[in-house]
Amino acid sequence: MEYDVVIGLEVHVQLKSESKMFCSCANEYGAEPNTNVCPICLGYPGVLPVPNIKMIQKTALAGMMIDCDVAKFSKFDRKSYFYPDQAKNYQITQADLPICLEGKIDISGKGLSGKDLPTKSIGVERIHMEEDVAKSTHFGNCTGVDFNRAGTPLMEIVSHPDMNSADEVYAYLTNLKQAMQYAGISDCDAEKGQIRCDVNISLKPKGAEKLGTKTEIKNLNSFRNAHASVEFEIKRQTKVLNEGGEIYQETRGWNAEKNHTYIMRVKESANDYRYFPEPDLLPVTFTDADLEEIRKEMPERPAERYNRYINELELPEYDAGVLTSEKAMSDYFDACVAAGAEAKATANWIMSELLRELNEANQTIADCKVKAEDLAKLLGLIAKKTINGKIAKKVFAEMFASGNDPEAIVKEKGLVQVTDKSAIEAFVDQAIEANPGPVEQYKEGKPNVDKFFVGQVMKLSRGKANPAMVIEMIKEKLG
Ligand SMILES: [Zn+2]
Repeated sequence: MEYDVVIGLEVHVQLKSESKMFCSCANEYGAEPNTNVCPICLGYPGVLPVPNIKMIQKTALAGMMIDCDVAKFSKFDRKSYFYPDQAKNYQITQADLPICLEGKIDISGKGLSGKDLPTKSIGVERIHMEEDVAKSTHFGNCTGVDFNRAGTPLMEIVSHPDMNSADEVYAYLTNLKQAMQYAGISDCDAEKGQIRCDVNISLKPKGAEKLGTKTEIKNLNSFRNAHASVEFEIKRQTKVLNEGGEIYQETRGWNAEKNHTYIMRVKESANDYRYFPEPDLLPVTFTDADLEEIRKEMPERPAERYNRYINELELPEYDAGVLTSEKAMSDYFDACVAAGAEAKATANWIMSELLRELNEANQTIADCKVKAEDLAKLLGLIAKKTINGKIAKKVFAEMFASGNDPEAIVKEKGLVQVTDKSAIEAFVDQAIEANPGPVEQYKEGKPNVDKFFVGQVMKLSRGKANPAMVIEMIKEKLG
């Protein structure tokens, strides 16, 4: 039987913030456990939370980035929650009145599996704010709780059940991450747990109105795991249904090593968190003027930048997609172009040489020592034929290692391209004289012998000869 797949996501995104949500403790990843704590985030009785207004504004901005309506009135609630990772025994969150409502994330292009995605908008039901809980680490026979993360600002972004495949889930997450990065709301570094998601997934007979029973896959810590777990769960549920079995409403985990989902707990009924309004915090209100101020902080959005690259800079769609996928990379590209570099040449250089060097050095563009203006200078040296492409790669490797100015490197190492006709002629004569065999082969019309001679001349000139002039000269000499 054929089934329709129905998927909705709940994504938790950590907000980029110096301090926690309701106290002044530092929000710092990787600090010694339980060093960034105070009576407020440890849940001592009698203390009062003080909201981090900047994070409330950032959440509104997050909503604007994905076309949500920002509520002029929202409030915080307490979610009753008895677990070692929350010392207060309740979590401050937002229940019925969240900050952002009804947005969308557009997807299109190619999916992770290589298949085409449908061009569509995936609805976002809401974004609400909450405080994160402590981090539990399980050791052999005990569990350690690190409260450094307790009380750090978090957004929960809930989608409508508008996704129908693993590829759509991956694209939604990718585009959501982009939007958050562009606005400086979160780096969404999955390795640091800055973006985590839960997937709700059900199957129903093709075309049926009534939704099937859904399962929830919890705590997916990477987009690839989200993709893989959805693919697995679609197959698992299809098999159960085809064999006449029943899907139970349950919470499942993902085992990335064994590549399967497993039962964590069966849900008998909806959890009763006994929400009630947080009495220690005032409602959140925005005036029109407040919202206008926040809207001013909206950067060029990823889709707008993508279109600008195609329409104004005439880049191919592929290049525009790669460059805009990371804000830091496209900012870098923009800076190169602003410094006078030609757009397509810059795109090529970033996508090949720069990304290769970064990968090899296990660095991100933020760590890169090559300033955008210096890459623009290097591309200028190629365009002016001061150096050829091959030498440029060597110069770039040096720039990457030292951060030095390309013009200084070229000068210091004597790498200026040889474009003097008589000098090139001398190299060509030398190559011909030293290789009588290949000369014969060339005259017999054997293919690729010209390439052999270009190689010889480049070697003799230590890579500095102008390749176009070399080819011309060889043809002239050998007839
Ligand atoms: Zn604190």
